[in-house]
Amino acid sequence: MQHIEALKPELEKPRKIAVIPHRRPDADALGSCLALYGYLVQGEHEVKVISPDEYPDFLKWMKGNESVLVYENGEKRKIEKFLETADFIFCLDFSSLDRIEDLGKLVAASKAVKVLIDHHPGKENFAAYELYDTKASATAELIYDFLHLMGAIDTLTVDMAECIYAGIMTDTGSFKYSSTSSKVHRTIADLIDVGVTPEKIHRLIYDTNSENKIKMLGFVLDQRLKVLREFNTAYMYISDDDLKRFQSKNGDTEGLVNYALSIEGIKLAALFIDRTDSVTMSFRSVGDFSVSEFASAHFNGGGHKNASGGKMTIPLGEVVDFFESLLPFYKDQLRQPDA
Ligand code: 5GP
Ligand code: MN
Repeated sequence: MQHIEALKPELEKPRKIAVIPHRRPDADALGSCLALYGYLVQGEHEVKVISPDEYPDFLKWMKGNESVLVYENGEKRKIEKFLETADFIFCLDFSSLDRIEDLGKLVAASKAVKVLIDHHPGKENFAAYELYDTKASATAELIYDFLHLMGAIDTLTVDMAECIYAGIMTDTGSFKYSSTSSKVHRTIADLIDVGVTPEKIHRLIYDTNSENKIKMLGFVLDQRLKVLREFNTAYMYISDDDLKRFQSKNGDTEGLVNYALSIEGIKLAALFIDRTDSVTMSFRSVGDFSVSEFASAHFNGGGHKNASGGKMTIPLGEVVDFFESLLPFYKDQLRQPDA
């Protein structure tokens, strides 16, 4: 494995390059891809951003959005061919190939040189070049570092800077999580100097909700929230019928789990969503309780210490019962006062 700086001479000639975010891409995953795309297309490369699946409408303002290929939406053969014949594949905001569903096998099989830029714990060793830092607030922060390492910070346009800003803003919970270092603020200051208007990005991401999304939020908080004081835990679930009733779209449930965590005294919050063929879940914690370990031990998942997720293929009711049955084993940890 080589440090990413060794890539510089490799990118000096025209290359065929794929850039891939994790499944259900969020602002960090997609913003990182499109910022990198904005840099790479300034060279004489052939570049395609390939998302495993659809992403929310509130990310579609990002420059380059119209050129993103969505694997699950068809044109699969074209995408497969591109990956087979690519020179480089950049994997952004994930570090295990199971996070990109079926694309994982194609990436593993491709002869392309793989480049990993990520901040998630639990990295697999599949990339020839890495820029990997679990202390980074966001992959987008690493994309900004990457431009410096390539000696290419002068290629940073306002459009690219907006994508990076969006990634850092969302992954730090609008600059409130413990990952919000002084370096994050310095990076943000640089992005503002390049021309980003913070108020505009906050509005584009957070204040473009559909009426259905807000109604579903109200319904879930009222009808689908359970607080288990004994375990300082609160969880919510959303059934398939609930999703249909509110015509839920990708992204409509993002951030919901934080409402459960915001209840006073709550240390562990969970959100379970029935996605017909599987149940996906989000976990959040405050303090020392590691939801990353919790998700990987019981829910085929992983993530960060205080934000993780997973996936199971048993019915929603059984997943919820299983979750409740685990809590007594963690009672002591969940009762400890905050650090
Ligand atoms: P979210 O709850 O926002 O979907 O995910 C929070 C975090 O959990 C993500 O940033 C990611 O690190 C992690 N995560 C979510 N789903 C999975 C999963 O299925 N597998 C793994 N390894 N991590 C996940
Ligand atoms: Mn991220």
